[in-house]
Amino acid sequence: MPAYEFGCTGCGHNEAHHHRITDAPALGSTRRCSACGRSTSVRIPSIAVVNIAKARADAKYPYVSRRWSNTELAGMCREDGGGHPIVESRRHEREIMARTGLVRE
Ligand SMILES: [Zn+2]
Repeated sequence: MPAYEFGCTGCGHNEAHHHRITDAPALGSTRRCSACGRSTSVRIPSIAVVNIAKARADAKYPYVSRRWSNTELAGMCREDGGGHPIVESRRHEREIMARTGLVRE
């Protein structure tokens, strides 16, 4: 069962509670704090969840752009065999957009 993190707004104590995914407590829901006994322990987003979201966002890089041509990118990218630019990373993509005014595909 995954662990869900709670942070107590009363005393600052952090703790994790295990629940089945189907019984996952909603973000912002509260329960009794094991440290101070008040019902002020609030579910907070866990670092693991945030990292999974980042990993998903990063998973699409590098990719071969079908929309941008390497001529308009003026040598900012490596090319695949067919003259299509290779976008290496999210940072690279941002740099391309900033320098050329092109928009994300
Ligand atoms: Zn507490």
